[in-house]
Amino acid sequence: MPLLPNSFRNRLALLFIGLVLALGLPTYLYLNHIYAAQLIGDRGRAMGDLASAVSAVLGENLRERQREIELLAQTPLYRRAPLDSPEFQNSLERVQKSYPQYSWIGLADPQGTVRAATGDLLVGQSVKKRPWFIHGLQGAFFGDLHEALLLAKLLPSAEGQGPVRFIDFASPVRDDHGNLRGVLAAHAHWRWAGDVVQVMTPHDAVEDALDIFIVNQDDVVIYPEGQDKALLAPKPGIFNAQAYAIHDWGSGTPYVTAMAPVREFIPGQTLGWRIVVRQPRERTLADVQALQRVVLLSLAGAGLLFLVLAWWSASRLSRPLERLAGLAHRIEAGDEKTRLEVEDAPLEIRHLAGALQGMADALLQHQEALAESNAQLERKVAERTAALADANAELHQLARRDALTGLANRFAANERLESEFLRMKRHGRGYGLLMLDIDFFKRINDTLGHAGGDQVLRHVANELRGLVRESDFVARVGGEEFMVLLPETGWQDAGRVAEKIRAGIAASTPPVDRQVTISVGVALATPAQEDMDQAVRLADAQLYRAKEEGRNRVASVAEPEAPPPAA
Ligand code: GH3
Ligand code: MG
Ligand code: MG
Repeated sequence: MPLLPNSFRNRLALLFIGLVLALGLPTYLYLNHIYAAQLIGDRGRAMGDLASAVSAVLGENLRERQREIELLAQTPLYRRAPLDSPEFQNSLERVQKSYPQYSWIGLADPQGTVRAATGDLLVGQSVKKRPWFIHGLQGAFFGDLHEALLLAKLLPSAEGQGPVRFIDFASPVRDDHGNLRGVLAAHAHWRWAGDVVQVMTPHDAVEDALDIFIVNQDDVVIYPEGQDKALLAPKPGIFNAQAYAIHDWGSGTPYVTAMAPVREFIPGQTLGWRIVVRQPRERTLADVQALQRVVLLSLAGAGLLFLVLAWWSASRLSRPLERLAGLAHRIEAGDEKTRLEVEDAPLEIRHLAGALQGMADALLQHQEALAESNAQLERKVAERTAALADANAELHQLARRDALTGLANRFAANERLESEFLRMKRHGRGYGLLMLDIDFFKRINDTLGHAGGDQVLRHVANELRGLVRESDFVARVGGEEFMVLLPETGWQDAGRVAEKIRAGIAASTPPVDRQVTISVGVALATPAQEDMDQAVRLADAQLYRAKEEGRNRVASVAEPEAPPPAA
């Protein structure tokens, strides 16, 4: 069985859902793959731009600091004043005031002894082993980030912060003739890098989980400070042409990572710093995911809306159809008064209803016509059957009638004899049997012709009819021979009836100019007889005797023995 009934409604609803999926899925996949890749590319490039901007500002700032120190070293004071002049102290303090991130600015003599410094720190101490001094003797120098060795104990350090770290700027101090007078150096607190990066950091960086790092040439993160030592920046080689890459920073979490090198600002001195910007890939794609959620929700909403719409509109179509089917079923069940009408249905369905109604009407008409012709046929069959029965009855009559006289014929006489004989066998009451024959009939025929003979036959038959009772039976059983059966009649009565017939015929007036007489043989049928013909033979024998004895007379068997008394 299908999960849903195969109705129009369900099909349409499924179609709509399929449409929503067909339209929505590509959008979703587009967002998931293409748009996500685009977004990562865009973000990567934007992060690369940010890294470049931070790198530019940082580089510019470093250059400015370096030039500040170089220019200071070239001022007349530094070129000419004796190294123990108190003016140096004032100058250094002024510079530090102008740029508070200078933790220390000092002037060392060519032997490496500090002669003047801000806050008098390290004055008189030897710095000849410090890289800035060693390099500063040769020319302009920038010192990479390092922990303060000598100054650490002297400078006030804030609670909770790690070791104090500096970058160094140094420049040789020469007199007007170019002779070396000493080395001027400044230690800038590394907080300074934080200030530069802060200024450049987008305001929603925290929310966006955006990190900006300064990385040195050993791939070690030097800003922000206090980073886990294991946090090594990606090698520059992994970045693509757009200067971004997906890198996991050894943590397993993929980051969109962009990089820009900090430009060299002292000719010949390779700094190797880089600005690296990163954002967790997840965070980068958060916008896509939000969009995906919106798309998914919209799809679900649209799907639901379409579903309801499809259901509703399909219902509008299918409900009248179902109603139509119901009405058609009623007609099918025999309710011919039902009309196939659906008023509030769409036009096509109303047309369909009209067509179905027309068809039903035509079918009903045909059915009625068929029923009518059936009834006609049945009437006709009934009529024909009745006619056939009449004809049969007539045939029955004809078969048993003598055509000339209208009396029962021999066949009928035999039937009557049979039934009377059986009845007698049942009730024990016998019947009288007269056999009659017209005397000298041959002569009548001979003198009057056959037609005259027939007239005589008809006359005798009519007379016979009038001479016997209704319940008696008369038949013409031969040419001019007749039989009379007298039911439940005894020997005496039979003889009397025979005599009455003989006398009646003899006294009658035939249609021909001739007297007509008959001879009669009388016999009795009794229960003792074996068959019905026995009485006939007996009567025939008596008839023969009557002829022998002169004709126009009645001959009868001797009076039979009285029947045995009833038991
Ligand atoms: P009998 O007194 O001995 O009876 O003499 P009969 O002349 O009547 O003797 P028979 O029985 O020999 O003759 C009967 C005649 O009746 C013979 C036949 O031609 C005639 N006949 C038989 N049937 C018909 C009939 O239907 N019409 C007419 N016209 N004559 C018939
Ligand atoms: Mg005869
Ligand atoms: Mg005769």
